[in-house]
Amino acid sequence: MKVPLLDLKPQYQQLKNEILEVTEEIYESQYFILGPRVAALEEDIARYCRCSHAVGVSSGTDALLISLMAAGIEPGDRVLTSPYTFFATAGAVARIGARSVFADIDPDTYNIDPASVKQVLSKMAPSERASVKAMIPVHLYGQCADMAPLLEIAEEENLFVIEDAAQAIGSEYRGTRAGAMGHTGCFSFFPSKNLGAFGDGGVVTTNSETLYEELKILRVHGSEPKYYHSTIGGNFRLDALQAAVVSGKLKYLDDWTAGRQRNAEVYRQLFRDAGLEAHVTLPLERENRHIYNQFVIRVSSGRDDLRQFLSDAGIATEIYYPVPLHLQECFKDLGYRKGDFPVAEHAAETSIALPIYPELTDDQQGYVVEKIKDFYA
Ligand SMILES: *Cc1c(COP(=O)(O)O)cnc(C)c1O
Repeated sequence: MKVPLLDLKPQYQQLKNEILEVTEEIYESQYFILGPRVAALEEDIARYCRCSHAVGVSSGTDALLISLMAAGIEPGDRVLTSPYTFFATAGAVARIGARSVFADIDPDTYNIDPASVKQVLSKMAPSERASVKAMIPVHLYGQCADMAPLLEIAEEENLFVIEDAAQAIGSEYRGTRAGAMGHTGCFSFFPSKNLGAFGDGGVVTTNSETLYEELKILRVHGSEPKYYHSTIGGNFRLDALQAAVVSGKLKYLDDWTAGRQRNAEVYRQLFRDAGLEAHVTLPLERENRHIYNQFVIRVSSGRDDLRQFLSDAGIATEIYYPVPLHLQECFKDLGYRKGDFPVAEHAAETSIALPIYPELTDDQQGYVVEKIKDFYA
């Protein structure tokens, strides 16, 4: 049996006719960049995330970059974030000329641990601590970071908060949606995210009128009015075709999310029945709406051999992420060493993501768990 990590073709079949219709309209109009399609998507996203505004941008990475620009982060400033995330989180910080300051993660949720953040801050020299200007909590795998204590720290330290919600559209923390808790929220429409475009795209959400206006200006090279620049932005525009595709898909997102949540339950039942407790730790659902962009388990031993074994059986898996960011070669100059964040390092060595996409069948899931059982037998 073949079990891919993700199969987007069933979604496309579901939507094909409506998408072909709007894309044809866009071809006929020859209006490709920003415009009414992007504005309509922004309204839909703001409503969906239950916040005041949304600004469509070119990618999730650019959503982070433009947020850091809007926050006024400058070379030499420091930004607190997780070492256990996709590269873009800290990549955006470095591209501004700022320095990432990492704190360890919570072993149960893989999200940044507020206690570790406090400890890191308390160990900094006063001048260093004063240079920490922002925090980027990442809602990894589709579950929100522990925002209440993080926002409390941000308040005390006067930090700008950028939620990296690229994997977490529709996820909730104590009833509030991802992207509605920080100063800005950053989302990605990369095809493998829960709400994917037919290419790159992203969006920034905010509840601040001032930031909303600033983000729109930064998105077009800081131009306001046209061809007059009081600030330097970039080309962070979203195009109409991607906006139309994402708008078309948004109607189905809650159904797809329900499918992912159902699959997570199916896995939990299958793993319970398989009696694999000694070998497999299932993801903990701590916050109220986990949207399962990924279903990541942790294994007691032989992670890489297990992955090969599953691959030989036709089951695709992935490691998110094999190298924590503090150990990436390009961040050597940040001065971190192996052992600095043991929880993140351990997660990088023992975690493995299983297929969880909505259209996955019970048979496929049964086969995945059976093969894992075979491996440990
Ligand atoms: C995907 C992702 C991004 C980047 O989004 P792109 O649209 O690929 O640029 C940033 N952060 C996290 C946590 C992601 O998963």
